[in-house]
Amino acid sequence: MKDSRRNIPFFPYSELYESDKENFNRIFEDVCSRGAYILQEDLEEFENDLKDFLNVKYVYGVANGTDALILGLKAIGLSTGDEVIMPSHTYIASPASVHLVGGTPILAECSQDGMLDIGDIEHRITDKTKAIMPVHINGRTCKMDKIEEIAKKYGLKIVEDAAQGLGSKFRDKCAGTFGAFGTISFYPAKLLGCFGDGGLIMTNDSAISEKISLLRDHGRNEEGKVIAWGYNSRLDNLQAAILKFKLSKYESEIKHRRSIAKIYHNGLKDIDALKLPEPPTDGDHFDVYQNYELRAKNREDLREFLTKKGIGTIIQWAGTPVHKFSDLGFDQSLEKTEEFFRECFMIPMNFAVKEEEANYIVDAIKEFYE
Ligand SMILES: *Cc1c(COP(=O)(O)O)cnc(C)c1O
Repeated sequence: MKDSRRNIPFFPYSELYESDKENFNRIFEDVCSRGAYILQEDLEEFENDLKDFLNVKYVYGVANGTDALILGLKAIGLSTGDEVIMPSHTYIASPASVHLVGGTPILAECSQDGMLDIGDIEHRITDKTKAIMPVHINGRTCKMDKIEEIAKKYGLKIVEDAAQGLGSKFRDKCAGTFGAFGTISFYPAKLLGCFGDGGLIMTNDSAISEKISLLRDHGRNEEGKVIAWGYNSRLDNLQAAILKFKLSKYESEIKHRRSIAKIYHNGLKDIDALKLPEPPTDGDHFDVYQNYELRAKNREDLREFLTKKGIGTIIQWAGTPVHKFSDLGFDQSLEKTEEFFRECFMIPMNFAVKEEEANYIVDAIKEFYE
C-alpha cells in the first residue's frame, strides 16, 4: 500500500460541474437563449423520459424533494390529526412533510438494513393511522411485499419517500411506484443531482396526478384557469434540461456505483468489527447505492484514522435520528435505532470515486483494524 495521503472528499461538489462542463455550458446557453425558464418543453421531455425509466404513468418535476412529499400528502387528502408511520432513521423532511400538512409523524425502529423495521409497524397503528411511509434509504428499496401486506390488512395508504432511491428496485419494480405516490430528490449530492434544488413526484393514480398538477402551479389547469388553491413548486426548466441530459447517462452511473460497492464489500467482508450493507440479491433487491452506509466498532477512532489518510466520511443526518429532536416535541426511545446510530457512518460513494481510490479506502480500513 502506498503511503502518500490522498484527498478523497465525501462528496466533491465542484466536480459535479467540472466533470462535464462543456455539455452543461451548452445546455445553459441553449435553454437561456430560448428564454425557456418555467414549465417549458425541456421539463416535459424530462418528465416523459422519467416515465419510461421508472415505468410509471405520471411524473411531475417540483421544486425539491420535501415539496414533493408535501404536495403528495396534500393530494391524497392527508389532514389534521392523521398519523403516518415512518422510520426514525430518515431525513427531517419526511416527518416535516407530514407535520406541515397537519398530520402527526409516528416514528418506528429501523432494522439491520437501516430501513423501516417491518416488525415495529403494526403495534403503532391506531384509529388515526392513514398511511405508512417507507423510506428507501441509501439506494435500496424496502421489502415492499411485507409493507403492502400490512397496509392492505389495515386499509392504509403507502406513500414512498424515495428521495435516495431513483432507479432502485424491489422485484423489478422501481422505488416510488408501489404506493399512492413516490418522491425523488435532485439535491446535488443525490443520485441524480442538479445544480441547486429539485424534486419529483410519481404516481399511477390519475386523480392524484391531477391534484399534483394543480398543486404545483397555483391551482391552474391546462387552460391557465385557477380551479383550486395551489403552491408555486415547479422544477426549473433549466434544471430539467440538465437532468434530462444526466438521465441519459444514468445507467452507467448506477453501474459505476455498484462496482465501487462491490470493491467495498469484497474488501471488507471479513472484518469482524464491521457490519456491511447486504449485497444486492438476485431478483429481490436492485440497489443503486446512493450511499454506502456501514457500521463499525470504534467508529470515532476509525473515522479519525481515515481523516488522517485523506478520506472523507460522514454520519447520516449528522448523527441524529428524528426521534432525538426534542425541540420538535419528540420524547421517545427507540433502542435498535439508537444502537444503529452508535456505529453507523458512510464512506465515499459517488460518481467521482475511482476504483483505485475505493481500493485505497479498503486498505486504510484494514490497516486500522490490524
Ligand atoms: C434528501 C432527502 C429528502 C429531501 O429532499 P430535498 O430535495 O432536499 O428537499 C427527503 N427524504 C430523504 C430520505 C432524503 O434523503
